[in-house]
Amino acid sequence: MSMPLCPNCHSANVHIKPIATRTCEGIGAVTGGIAAAKAGTAGAAIGTAICPGVGTAIGGITGIVAGFFTGALSGAAVGRAIDRKIVQAFHCNDCGYDFAA
Ligand SMILES: [Zn+2]
Repeated sequence: MSMPLCPNCHSANVHIKPIATRTCEGIGAVTGGIAAAKAGTAGAAIGTAICPGVGTAIGGITGIVAGFFTGALSGAAVGRAIDRKIVQAFHCNDCGYDFAA
């Protein structure tokens, strides 16, 4: 894929904006948050079975943290793939102009 010229100042000094990466990272974090709530419940149940009280709290927190990071990381990976293949938004390094190809 060849880089386009900036429509504002005609500079060739442009780069692809990582739009989808950030968007999907956010979506992944939200999805991960939902998964985290479920994982937290499951973790709390496991923790309760092992050691009621302390185990419930530790199991719940562990499940939430794991679910959140898994969601955010997988979301970012999907976003990077979309950036590379689908979204073609550019940013001019010379004048700061944003444009789509
Ligand atoms: Zn420009």
